[in-house]
Amino acid sequence: MRLPIALLAAIASPAAVAEIPTVTAPTTLLCERAFDAASGKLLGATTILVEGRRIKTVIAGRKPSAGARVVDLAGMTCLPGLIDLHTHITGETSARGYEEGFRLNSADYALRGVGYARRTLLAGFTTIRNLGDVGNASIALRNAIDQGHVLGPRIFTAGKSIATTGGHADPTNGRNAELTGDPGPKEGVVNGADDARKAVRQRYKEGADLIKITSTGGVLSYAKNGQNPQFTVSEIEAIVATAKDYGMRVAAHAHGDEGIRRAVVAGVDSIEHGTFMSDATIALMKKHGTWYVPTISAGAFVADKAKTPGYYPEIVRPKALAVGPQIQSTFARAWKAGVKIAFGTDAAVYPHGQNAHEFVLMVDAGMPPAAALQAATVHAAELLDQGENLGSLDAGKFADIVAVPGNPLEQIAAMEAVAFVMKDGVIHKGAGSTAE
Ligand SMILES: [Zn+2]
Repeated sequence: MRLPIALLAAIASPAAVAEIPTVTAPTTLLCERAFDAASGKLLGATTILVEGRRIKTVIAGRKPSAGARVVDLAGMTCLPGLIDLHTHITGETSARGYEEGFRLNSADYALRGVGYARRTLLAGFTTIRNLGDVGNASIALRNAIDQGHVLGPRIFTAGKSIATTGGHADPTNGRNAELTGDPGPKEGVVNGADDARKAVRQRYKEGADLIKITSTGGVLSYAKNGQNPQFTVSEIEAIVATAKDYGMRVAAHAHGDEGIRRAVVAGVDSIEHGTFMSDATIALMKKHGTWYVPTISAGAFVADKAKTPGYYPEIVRPKALAVGPQIQSTFARAWKAGVKIAFGTDAAVYPHGQNAHEFVLMVDAGMPPAAALQAATVHAAELLDQGENLGSLDAGKFADIVAVPGNPLEQIAAMEAVAFVMKDGVIHKGAGSTAE
């Protein structure tokens, strides 16, 4: 049906007023040093000219350009905006989390996400991937941020994670018979290739940017096993092929080795956590070019919290104690073997805003600081399929720029002290910004 023009005009909503500034005057950033993400090397004094949303030029030395506002970042190292590829921006760890799942609606989660998003951005993370939410709250939050209503990182979200019946991310796990129901592909629960295809198409319809599956059991779901394989290869192949039709990539949560292997063979783009991967599976990931997103922070946090009685349900505690401490050493093996590593933390499992502690854990495990920074910039952008726009300080890319005091290659903990944040050419922290 075609509506008359006059009627269309009448139902069109007035232009929304953005709360967050979306345009700014041309700005010159004078950096003491700058991180060249492509080479992993630190450049000396560098001037970055920003016009509109994008970087206009990058030149050596500290040279203010005429007519542009000058921001002096003396003593600081400039880096591309940081990217965390594994977050759940609309939730956060709490001893009340399990019972809240029975009371909260998606609007509650979306509103809580406003604070978490702000914390994440001000910690220097200008882009995140969101891997699973409730009621598409992260899609609403992404849109509100993009439209300037709310302050936060740019979000690429999977919407609802796709699981199998009783699997990690079946939203009815642990409920009584009346509340359990029989969720299907619309709710993100699949059994068989046809369901799998429908679940991907449903996520596309709802506005997701990518697909997340739970290839094995998980730590925090109300279920006994955190490692068992929960999809068949043919189910994952159906998901990967359908996602490809819609231009979406596939991230697979997986702890146990068999579930990791199936996801890699079926062609997913990334393995998240990867806790118990064998040497044979590591070799398989190299062969397939599969990315590994380790989330060491989450493992360390849950192993610690599991010692506090009552923080997690009793069915979760032994899983947290077994999985948590393992991730860092698995990461060390994968790095040494040459698997492609991209930065992700599972923020929400630990409090939002502490994302940069992952750098310290990566370096503790034997990764050179420059490689850890590349994992959160140029390599993360590549896995996001956003290499043209994000991940390095190059002319033409989005002006997502952060600065830390001192030299992060000498002292990686400097990444936990981000002092300046620009996203889309707008300053949100440092240099007299009002967002702090
Ligand atoms: Zn997660």
